[in-house]
Amino acid sequence: MSTKRGLQREAREAFNWRGHHTKRWRDSGGVKGGWSESYYLECDQCGRRAYIDPNPAPNSTHVYGEAVAVECSR
Ligand SMILES: [Zn+2]
Repeated sequence: MSTKRGLQREAREAFNWRGHHTKRWRDSGGVKGGWSESYYLECDQCGRRAYIDPNPAPNSTHVYGEAVAVECSR
C-alpha cells in the first residue's frame, strides 16, 4: 500500500529527472478515497503531466503520465 505522500515523492523525482518543472500539485477533481481520485503535476514548460493514483485499478499503476516517460521538450 503506497501512501499519497510517498507517491507524490516518487512522481516528483521522475518528473524532475525528465527535466520538467512546476511548483505545485493539482487535484484532478476525483472522489477522495475512490477509484477516480488522482493528482497531477503539469509542466510549466511543455504542459506534459505526471499523475498519481492512490487507489489504482488492478491493471494500472500508481504513477503514470507522459511527464514520467518523456523528456521535457524545452
Ligand atoms: Zn516539460
